[in-house]
Amino acid sequence: MSVIRHFINGADTGATVRTGPVYNPATGEAHRTVAFASVEEVEQAIDAAKAAGAAWRATSLIKRADVFFRLRQILAERTPELAAIVTSEHGKVLSDAAGEVSRGIENVEFAAGLVHLLKGEHAEQVARGVDVHSVKQPVGVVACITPFNFPVMVPLWMVASAIACGNTVVLKPSEKDPSAAIWLAKAFQEAGLPDGVLNVVNGDKVAVDTLLDAPDVKAVSFVGSTPIAKSIYERASANGKRVQALGGAKNHMVVMPDADVDGAAAAAVSAAYGSAGERCMAVSVLVAVGDVADPLIASITEKVADLRIGDGTDAASEMGPLITREHRDRVEGYVHGAEAEGATVLIDGTAQTFAGDGFFTGISLIDHVKPGMKLYEDEIFGPVLSVVRVETYAEAVELINAHQFGNGTAIFTRDGGTARQFEFDIEVGMVGINVPIPVPVGAFSFGGWKSSLFGDSHIYGPESIHFYTRSKVVTTRWPDHTAAQVDLGFPSNH
Ligand code: NAD
Repeated sequence: MSVIRHFINGADTGATVRTGPVYNPATGEAHRTVAFASVEEVEQAIDAAKAAGAAWRATSLIKRADVFFRLRQILAERTPELAAIVTSEHGKVLSDAAGEVSRGIENVEFAAGLVHLLKGEHAEQVARGVDVHSVKQPVGVVACITPFNFPVMVPLWMVASAIACGNTVVLKPSEKDPSAAIWLAKAFQEAGLPDGVLNVVNGDKVAVDTLLDAPDVKAVSFVGSTPIAKSIYERASANGKRVQALGGAKNHMVVMPDADVDGAAAAAVSAAYGSAGERCMAVSVLVAVGDVADPLIASITEKVADLRIGDGTDAASEMGPLITREHRDRVEGYVHGAEAEGATVLIDGTAQTFAGDGFFTGISLIDHVKPGMKLYEDEIFGPVLSVVRVETYAEAVELINAHQFGNGTAIFTRDGGTARQFEFDIEVGMVGINVPIPVPVGAFSFGGWKSSLFGDSHIYGPESIHFYTRSKVVTTRWPDHTAAQVDLGFPSNH
């Protein structure tokens, strides 16, 4: 059985004293083993990152950008290879895994524009003969801690911008699907990134806590569940680091009575059941306003009738298994408890049977869900769609704004005035208007509100440049100008 270790200073390394199983969720088989880093191994990775920092921040911006152009090429050409790795450990269908890679490529493309992104400001003649300018400098070693559900895209959300800004990185991916991060680190190396700039340590709380407590780690980017995000934020900020910690979600999709019902139903099915609901931007609550609930449910029921659930490597499969057996059982628990909470189970996915030992469950649709039910309050992170019926737009907004999570939301309507008001009223970070999973393109930033994000910076895009740099402001006066040097050669940036 292959063992996934760490990637420190450009090399595969690591003891296998403590390890964990890596499953193929479609078969239920533990087909790989992942090493859990010790404190000493994590310190070794931090030291490697620190040692590589001086040369990397001194590397010209054009040379840094070159790495991202080459990396983009590698990712584009070898997407099927990387997607297959994702599917073998996460379970999502291959087309979805390839989609994840293409969203990650956007972050690499954004980072390739670093010459533009790292420009400072300049004010001439703030006093007689005095100018002021600002520069953006790297913060140092950055720790990136990522969840299982996007093993390529979320690391690239962080790592691409952090490295572009001249930082060095220690990445701690999810222990459930660790191979993609090692693949990415090797691809960066192949693209010309010097050893030590990107290190990967695998493991658990031991590795994470070592990163959070290490004085040489200056910034922490985290994406995962809310309880862990909160604890990471508290521990790392208490240690004086800058932190952005993105947490869980419960995304509501409002359907107004004037919406294109069929279009909204198709969007709800795709966003609720795609990737088996294991997306932080999955729609998990449909808020049906006025009399739209019955036709909407009828259309959804028709659309899911022949949804194909199976091994993600089978091109016919539209939805794969869940990440672990325990998680599958937890998701099913919410469906089993729904009637006792007063809800109506319209489609019971737990009743669907599957051959083999894969971590599969069917899709569930539950009506008459209400605030206060566990089904409504908790993040389920599985293929379970709840329907909440409300009378008015105002009730829909009140419901969403009262929820602890504020990651994503959407409204489906044909009325521009309602859509505009929704954008104004809603206390959620990412908003879709007739778009069910509003994950913005790489040139914008991403992040939730309330318990979906701890810290004040959104991730990737322009806000990441702010997060991964420190600004320095220089005030200058020159008594005279320096002697000019003659050089007839064409100016080179290298
Ligand atoms: P998780 O919180 O269990 O794990 C995330 C990371 O934290 C992993 O690397 C894990 O090893 C580490 N970790 C877990 N327990 C820890 C502990 N006690 N101490 C220190 N580190 C610990 O999350 P997950 O199950 O891998 O991912 C799913 C969650 O991530 C969902 O809640 C989902 O909504 C969220 N998510 C959010 C976003 C977003 O943008 N807001 C994006 C993707 C996923």
